Amino acid sequence: MTRAERVVARFPEKEIDLLLVTDLTNVRYLTGFTGTNAMAVIGPDLRRFVTDFRYVEQAGHEVDGFEVERGPQDFMTALAEGWPPGELRLGFDDGHVTVRAHRRLREVVPERIELVPAGGLVEAERAVKEPGEIERIRAAAALADDIYAWVEDQGLVGRTEREVALALEHEMRLRGAEDPSFPSIVAAAENGALPHATPRDVPIPAGTLVTLDLGCRLDGYCSDCTRTWATGELPDALAEIHALVLRAQETALAAVRAGPTGEEIDAVAREIIAAAGHGDHFGHGLGHGVGLEVHEAPRLSPTGTDALVAGNVVTVEPGVYVPGLSGARIEDLVVVTEDGCDVLSGAPKALRTVG
Ligand code: ZN
Ligand code: ZN
Repeated sequence: MTRAERVVARFPEKEIDLLLVTDLTNVRYLTGFTGTNAMAVIGPDLRRFVTDFRYVEQAGHEVDGFEVERGPQDFMTALAEGWPPGELRLGFDDGHVTVRAHRRLREVVPERIELVPAGGLVEAERAVKEPGEIERIRAAAALADDIYAWVEDQGLVGRTEREVALALEHEMRLRGAEDPSFPSIVAAAENGALPHATPRDVPIPAGTLVTLDLGCRLDGYCSDCTRTWATGELPDALAEIHALVLRAQETALAAVRAGPTGEEIDAVAREIIAAAGHGDHFGHGLGHGVGLEVHEAPRLSPTGTDALVAGNVVTVEPGVYVPGLSGARIEDLVVVTEDGCDVLSGAPKALRTVG
């Protein structure tokens, strides 16, 4: 089945006849289009793709299996026409359509067509990767590994967090990345206690922990990997934090396979960290899906109710953050299989010292 056919097969979940797809990542997934303005409508017998005049030629090369239309200047008015006959229920992505866009949709789409919130259908298909997608994510993860090896060679002590972040993003682009998957995190000493720290104009000191979290976007697909280094001899409290996070990460990794829910995998790491007295210092979920977006379904967190299935690509990234002191996080990117997982991240996880 094509991707669009698989999404149509999910229509009964939302009792819809047609689906309007406006989120550009979902449009890309279904049609192949990589530009910045387009929408698609799919149904059992409908494959409509609308873009504006800037992208008609690009769409001709990229879009497969859809009828490509050039939309009018007032883009959404394309939806005044082109519908099958009769009363219909049109799903729209309520996670992405703004209140204003929804009002405009209601004005434009014929009255006989009911608008039905139907978010998550395309995302549910995106969560289960095809072999070709896994290979692209594998390549993006390998590039992140290479960047980590390069960072170790360059050294950390005495350079500012911001210098390191800028340099590694430059290097990943030189090596073929389209972009970083997200703004890179370089967080030393007390800044490491902030899970999503912003790199500072402060030199990295010796004798502390430094957490780097980075990912590369390659051929549209993201990677995401975190490692925490020592910059010299560590106080016991910091060495213990790293050892605890590593133990939680490796134990949770060993629990990943098709079957358990995201919540159950999350609990494996959370219990280890709580038992060591750091329960309050691990305030984020254990992991998230990665694909065309760096954060997508499924979630490994206390609210992750979906069971993992083979083909999910997820991160496993426990952390411990002690305010005023420092923190550590270790994150691997893995493919869920029937009986375990295939780890895509290759950078060493045991505590390493970088000068
Ligand atoms: Zn990350
Ligand atoms: Zn992550």
